[in-house]
Amino acid sequence: MVSVSIASDADGYFDRECPGDACQFKFKVHEDDWREKVRDEEVHCPFCGHTAHANAWWTQEQLKHTEKTALAHVGHRINRAMKRDADRWNRRQPRNSLINMTMKVDSRPLHLPLPPEAVEPMRLKITCPRCECRYAVIGAAFFCPACGHNAAELVFSQTITGIRQVLNALTDIKATILDRDAAATTVRLITENGLQNAVTAFQRYAEALYDTLTSVQTPRRNAFQNLKEGSDLWHTATGKRYDAYLSNTELQALARYFQQRHLLAHTQGIVDADYITRTGDTDYHIEQRIVVHETTVFDCLALIEKLATGMASDIPPPKESES
Ligand SMILES: [Zn+2]
Ligand SMILES: [Zn+2]
Repeated sequence: MVSVSIASDADGYFDRECPGDACQFKFKVHEDDWREKVRDEEVHCPFCGHTAHANAWWTQEQLKHTEKTALAHVGHRINRAMKRDADRWNRRQPRNSLINMTMKVDSRPLHLPLPPEAVEPMRLKITCPRCECRYAVIGAAFFCPACGHNAAELVFSQTITGIRQVLNALTDIKATILDRDAAATTVRLITENGLQNAVTAFQRYAEALYDTLTSVQTPRRNAFQNLKEGSDLWHTATGKRYDAYLSNTELQALARYFQQRHLLAHTQGIVDADYITRTGDTDYHIEQRIVVHETTVFDCLALIEKLATGMASDIPPPKESES
C-alpha cells in the first residue's frame, strides 16, 4: 500500500479534473467538503454534469505524481531484494577459491518525489445553495460537484457577468486580430451574440422561477422569450406584471431588444413588418439591417437583471419540508 499525499491550495481547495473525455474541466473542491459532503459513489462535474466515482477525479499532475511515488517505492523494494540476493550469493562463494567473485548492489535510500504544488486559487468560488459544498472554477459552472444541483440563479448571474466581461474585453480582442475585416466581424458577432445570450439567460431563469410556483399551467415552449406573453403568465401566477418591476420606458426598450434578438435569430438581422409593429421603432425601415452596439447590450443586461431580480423577490421562500 503506497499512500500519496496531495496538497490543497492556499485557500484549502483540492485540484480536481473531470474524467469525461470530451470535458476534462479543471476545478477545485474545498478539502473539508470533499471529505464530508462529496459522496464516494458519485461526484458531478461542475461544467458538463458527468458523474463518476470519487476516485476518478485526479488531475493529470496528481496522477503523474502518484505514478512516480509508486515507482519510487517499487524501485526501493527491488533494490533491497537484489541486495539480499547478492549477499546470499556472496556468502555461498568459497572463501579459499583463487578467484574471488562478489556481487555488489548499491543500496540507495528511498527518494520520494515532491508532491506537485496545488494550482493557484481560483477566483470564482461558489457555495452550493442546496448542500453548501464549496467549490471553485474558472469561467463558469453549472452543477454542484457534491449534489449535482443546477442553480438557476447562479447560472443566470454567471451568464450576465460573462457577457459583460467579454464586452469589456472587446477592445483588447479587436487589437489582437490583425486583419481588419476579421476584426470588425469578430466584434459584431460577439456583440450580437451577447444580446442573444442575454435574452436566453433571462428566458431560462424566468422559466425556472415560474417553475417554483405551485399549481401553474405549463407554459408554451419559449413563452418567456416573448415579453408580453411572459408578463401575462407571471401575472396569472403572482398577480404582478413586468410593469411592477420596470417603468414603461424601460419595458419599451427591453421589448425592442427582445425583438432585435428575434431578428438576429430568424432573419439574420433584417427588419420585417412584424418588428416595426411590435416595437414601433422608427429608426428602421423594412428590409434594413439592425445595428447592435455594445451600449445596447449593456443596457439590455441592466434591464434584464432588474426585471429578474424583481421577479425573484416575489417568489415565496421554500417551505420547510423534508430536510
Ligand atoms: Zn466535465
Ligand atoms: Zn450541492
